[in-house]
Amino acid sequence: MHMHPNLDRDQITPQQALDILIEGNGRFINNVRRQHNMLQIRDELKDKQHPFASVLGCSDSRTTVELIFDQNLGDIFSVRLAGNIASRKAIGSLEFSTEYLGSKIIIVMGHTNCGAVKAACDDYHGGNIGEIIHLINPAVAAEKSVNDKDKRNSNNSEFVEKVCFLNVQHQIQRLLRYSQIIKKQVKEKRVGLIGAVYDLATGEVIFDKESPYL
Ligand SMILES: [Zn+2]
Repeated sequence: MHMHPNLDRDQITPQQALDILIEGNGRFINNVRRQHNMLQIRDELKDKQHPFASVLGCSDSRTTVELIFDQNLGDIFSVRLAGNIASRKAIGSLEFSTEYLGSKIIIVMGHTNCGAVKAACDDYHGGNIGEIIHLINPAVAAEKSVNDKDKRNSNNSEFVEKVCFLNVQHQIQRLLRYSQIIKKQVKEKRVGLIGAVYDLATGEVIFDKESPYL
């Protein structure tokens, strides 16, 4: 957003917000990220925030959203949990970002080679991690193309990536099911909602361009 200082964050459309993220990801892919004057930005933001986008992403240390989209402090409201799960608390955080901070788009972003998705593929149950896996399990069940039971596990990378994509779709449906606030905002096209998968190898965020919620 720092590349567009004259844009009014209250007036931009969900599509414009998405375009700004795509543009920033392009800089990241090409390794031409901008240097920021952090001192000045901190000063500008000390009393207020107005993020233009929200991301529900994974906690994976390689998927830091501000870096991936080449954005700055104050630009992205970031909710990160292993497996980018739309838990009730994650949904509440996202509601806060759109309803009270004016964020224009929610990106639900999975990533390749995700440990949480792999754990779900292996039907892991241990400890509190099991609470997370429980919310990913429906995506594993929704994967119907791999019929051989021996290939429905984390050793099969093709299976893992299919479940990753289905998990993004599943978490989007959870958001719409459990949040009347977000459902209304999306229906009225005041807020966009789109799925994406970040490729750890290329740095590219591949958006679901067929998303019905833009
Ligand atoms: Zn992950």
